[in-house]
Amino acid sequence: MAAGKSGPTRILVAGGGYVGLYTALRLQSKLRRNEASITVVDPQPHMTYQPFIPEASGGSIEPRHVVVPLRRVLRKCNVLTGRITKVEHARKVALMEAPDGHVEEIEYDQLVVALGSVARTLPIPGLAEVGIAAKTIGEAIYLRNHVLSRLDAAASTPDPEQRRRMLSFLVIGGGFAGIEMVGELEDMARYACRYYDNIKPEDMRWVVVDAANRVLPEVSPKMGVYTVERLMDRGIEVYLETLVKSVEGGHVVLSDGTEFDTDTVIWTAGVKANPVLAETDLPLDPRGRLRCTASLQVEGTSDAWGAGDCTAVPDLSRIEEDPQATCSPSAQHAVRQSKVLANNIVASLRGRKVRDYYHKYLGSVASLGLYKGVADVAGIKLKGYPAWAMHRAYHVSKMPTFNRKFRIIMDWTMALLFRREVISLGQINEPKAEFERVAKG
Ligand SMILES: Cc1cc2nc3c(=O)[nH]c(=O)nc-3n(C[C@H](O)[C@H](O)[C@H](O)COP(=O)(O)OP(=O)(O)OC[C@H]3O[C@@H](n4cnc5c(N)ncnc54)[C@H](O)[C@@H]3O)c2cc1C
Repeated sequence: MAAGKSGPTRILVAGGGYVGLYTALRLQSKLRRNEASITVVDPQPHMTYQPFIPEASGGSIEPRHVVVPLRRVLRKCNVLTGRITKVEHARKVALMEAPDGHVEEIEYDQLVVALGSVARTLPIPGLAEVGIAAKTIGEAIYLRNHVLSRLDAAASTPDPEQRRRMLSFLVIGGGFAGIEMVGELEDMARYACRYYDNIKPEDMRWVVVDAANRVLPEVSPKMGVYTVERLMDRGIEVYLETLVKSVEGGHVVLSDGTEFDTDTVIWTAGVKANPVLAETDLPLDPRGRLRCTASLQVEGTSDAWGAGDCTAVPDLSRIEEDPQATCSPSAQHAVRQSKVLANNIVASLRGRKVRDYYHKYLGSVASLGLYKGVADVAGIKLKGYPAWAMHRAYHVSKMPTFNRKFRIIMDWTMALLFRREVISLGQINEPKAEFERVAKG
């Protein structure tokens, strides 16, 4: 119980993503109702299992199955739909803007900052107008419909330039999100081509651009080279050490002089800590991340906690080689940090010692489309089908709740039995257009 208070300790979890959901799940199972009340605030009513976003875009998993409904699983928590806009930790108050626009003050005794990251963009002309990220479930659904709708449109245009533009797709960023996204979307579009008399896979142009000299920095350089080679075998163009200079009006200009037109610009070139952190009185590092100790307490406090993409948490496994090392923004850290964070809150409420977070990054596994993948985990390097199978097995095992695991396995089984569903529900992007046309006469 909080000092000087008679009721249960009020725990506020800001953000219901990986860290928010896992922390709240653990807290609700460990704390008694008379010990603490837990409030979780997120603008979305669900947690998104982001590593499955590319598969949801590629049509191998039903998008609803890669999100976890917060109210359904956090039965002992108070789930609020809204956006934290400010935190005054000195007063132990957070401001939440609700969907109807009203702003509410939420008082708390213990704060968990789990606000994640947002796309880190660059001032590239045209990017804000034509680009789209690949981080949310809405973007996953949009991209699947959009790519398939481009094939539909290209199949019926008599204009060769328009057709080339519609069949060109640009992915900016060669990290996890970019490589998995291009792998899944190209695979889906290639499969869909069989249903068009006048579009062959080689008519499409898929381009990946990255400023670095390699892709997938999370795996070894050798596996990065393997990934590029496999993508190129499929006709995907990979431009390394290349910058995107402009995408104005969908006209792409690369730093090596390459130019082409496209209707599809997917931005996956990195993330930065949620900018709302600037609206708090909590300590931030020069990159805008919340400064936390290894015990996941916000520096200089004993009742504010943080984990995940929005934080700078010392990486104790690398501290000897680099004293400034911090944990990378990954699900691998987010899940494990949540466990330690929840345990530490319980320990501190019960007057016990908190413990430090220590995890040696195990490596990574990425899907490159159906039956294709690359894995570099704990020194084990796998390619092709075994890596792809490992990717699916690992992520479905980590997917929260039996319900979601089962639904995803059923999706995969259905896709195996009845092939992939490649219909564009393009109308979803403009659901009112048809009614407006009819209503206007
Ligand atoms: C396409 C893709 C694939 C990935 N694949 C992998 C992978 O294979 N392996 C891996 O380790 N990592 C992967 N990652 C990274 C991983 O998903 C993130 O590191 C992880 O989600 C971080 O967890 P988090 O809780 O910090 O942030 P999130 O899970 O993003 O949660 C942040 C939450 O905060 C909410 N929020 C935002 N603003 C506010 C606000 N103002 N008020 C209240 N709530 C707010 C958001 O709605 C969200 O629910 C991938 C990421 C992407 C995008």
